Amino acid sequence: MITDTYTIISQEELSPGIFQMALYAPQMAQEALPGQFVDIYCASKDKLLPRPISLFDADPVEGTLSLIYAVVGKGTEEISSMVEGDTIRVTGPLGHGFPLEQARKMEEIFLVGGGLGIPPMYLLARRLHILYPEKPIRVFLGFRSEPWIGEIFSAFGEVLPSSDDGACGFKGTVIDRMKNYLDTADSGSRILYACGPIPMMRAIQPFAADHDIETWFSLEERMGCGFGACYGCPARLRTEEGGSVLKRVCKDGPVFPGKDVIFA
Ligand SMILES: Cc1cc2nc3c(=O)[nH]c(=O)nc-3n(C[C@H](O)[C@H](O)[C@H](O)COP(=O)(O)OP(=O)(O)OC[C@H]3O[C@@H](n4cnc5c(N)ncnc54)[C@H](O)[C@@H]3O)c2cc1C
Repeated sequence: MITDTYTIISQEELSPGIFQMALYAPQMAQEALPGQFVDIYCASKDKLLPRPISLFDADPVEGTLSLIYAVVGKGTEEISSMVEGDTIRVTGPLGHGFPLEQARKMEEIFLVGGGLGIPPMYLLARRLHILYPEKPIRVFLGFRSEPWIGEIFSAFGEVLPSSDDGACGFKGTVIDRMKNYLDTADSGSRILYACGPIPMMRAIQPFAADHDIETWFSLEERMGCGFGACYGCPARLRTEEGGSVLKRVCKDGPVFPGKDVIFA
């Protein structure tokens, strides 16, 4: 974990209110794993808590880190006003990423991203494709309406978009799209990595259980410190003994076995 001040090398509005920012952060780019996140500190003194943002991409050769974030409040609004050449304080990489080894024994990989849960799937797709170039990767992307990202995933796998209103791809949820895909797919072993809104993840649990698919979820929770000290970001997980235990999303996660997550 590193804390340093980095130079913004690009900041672009991908779609209204959704920004992509790249930083020159060589050591972090070397260490970054898919599913990890960084804590971004705002310059203004009235926003003391850092803003956690997932890694969208990391290029260890160029020394760059890329993030995609939505402007939802004062912190992300301030971050979005920064431009190329500005500097920003960042801590990271934080948390445990997605387990990549688990995919080795599987015949097919499903990546499922809903809304702002899509960006972390990109670094994951890239690294899985490098590790297992022959393994088919299906990327299920869920949008409310018009897509704001998608084609870039086709370098690593088949992109299967869906949208609530049918404006892009299949009309329905990512779960509907996966069911539709499986209707005609061969049987085989599958692993599924997901990040997105809680209703999406909650719906994946019975779907995955029905189809015997191993799942890993990246959770999002309001955070304080971001590195495990304040216990401000709890997630409840089932234990093998039939009980439950509280884990810290920032330090024990943000990635957890999907079958164990208990959604409130
Ligand atoms: C592990 C993790 C990864 C994330 N990755 C991304 C990402 O890749 N792209 C993206 O757009 N958003 C992501 N988020 C959500 C992002 O952190 C919040 O949208 C952001 O912190 C909001 O800050 P704000 O000041 O604009 O909003 P405000 O609502 O003004 O924030 C007030 C406080 O609440 C915290 N907060 C508010 N919403 C969230 C939230 N959903 N999660 C955690 N803390 C929150 C803020 O950090 C701040 O301390 C992630 C959250 C987590 C926990």
